[in-house]
Amino acid sequence: MKPFKAVFPGKYIQAEGAVAQLPELIRLLGTKSLILASSTVVKSILPRYSVREELKESLVICEFNGECSEKEIERVCSLIQNEKIDVIVGMGGGKTIDTAKISADKNGIPVIVVPTIASTDAPCSGCAVVYTMNGVFDYVYYQKMNPQVVLVDTKIISCAPSRFLVSGMGDALATWFEARSCERTNSENACGGYSTLTGLSIARLCYDTLLKYGISARIANENNIVTPAFNHIVEANILLSGIGFESSGLGAAHAIHNGLTALEQTHGLYHGEKVAFGVLTSLHLTDNDPCENETVYQFCESVGLPTTFRELNIKNVGYDDLMKVAVATCRPEESIHHEACSIEPESIIAAMIAADATGRMRKKQ
Ligand SMILES: [Zn+2]
Repeated sequence: MKPFKAVFPGKYIQAEGAVAQLPELIRLLGTKSLILASSTVVKSILPRYSVREELKESLVICEFNGECSEKEIERVCSLIQNEKIDVIVGMGGGKTIDTAKISADKNGIPVIVVPTIASTDAPCSGCAVVYTMNGVFDYVYYQKMNPQVVLVDTKIISCAPSRFLVSGMGDALATWFEARSCERTNSENACGGYSTLTGLSIARLCYDTLLKYGISARIANENNIVTPAFNHIVEANILLSGIGFESSGLGAAHAIHNGLTALEQTHGLYHGEKVAFGVLTSLHLTDNDPCENETVYQFCESVGLPTTFRELNIKNVGYDDLMKVAVATCRPEESIHHEACSIEPESIIAAMIAADATGRMRKKQ
């Protein structure tokens, strides 16, 4: 019998200027620290704070090489061992953070995650994606524990392009629908157990928060300001969605996302943008309530998530390419099997065509 299971980061701190707390948090967890930072962080974010001045020789700053690959993880791990590092900070986008999380796990030291964009729900999770040197998906690495601290500086996130925040909303939109499917079909969550009431309620809160504050948050981001609505959406994208997907499970939307990556034309789209189209497809696949479908389409349109093939950069996609996506979506290891409906490539293709046609029809209205 599988247990009910939920996982969380040790501490979650979200504030304007939160990075100022970094030296104190580092001292709380260790004596010699390494900040693995993306090039933007090294060039234009770290110089604005006094982290380097405060920690002096007890801090090593290392620029991330751009890919979360085994080679990069090895490089960071040797740095940890040679410099006798006992706490690591991952500061930047998803790949920088994932490299820091894996390197910390391999060396048994704590990790502080500082996301500088809110484009996915990866920061709080205990898993990370490893890529080959050429940027092709390799495997998922599961850590022993979730990050000790997730430190979210909303000032930094509000200065990033709003497409990141909107994409994060796409990733967060899937959380409730996938959690609900796992609950209905008694499927396993993403941390090796069954969903708790906690996980499920957090997933629902994530969805409600998006519907309520999504548009206002995008407007705030476009003006590089932090408002209560912006704060709520950052929390939804990073914390609620993070706990929601890991503790309640994945479903059709992420499987369809993975299927879409089989088409090279979609590579310019962000994770959350493809996931959002996966949600729309899942509504048609699972015979979902039309009133709820209306709400989801309206939400996607209002914040600017793709609802048509054209917006996915596959305007003239043919049957053979759709079949490629559908076959990849239905692979035995994919979370599409957590849905309570017939799971055949032909049904996935029909649902994708229905999702696109509905999106197109609505745009003409
Ligand atoms: Zn995701």
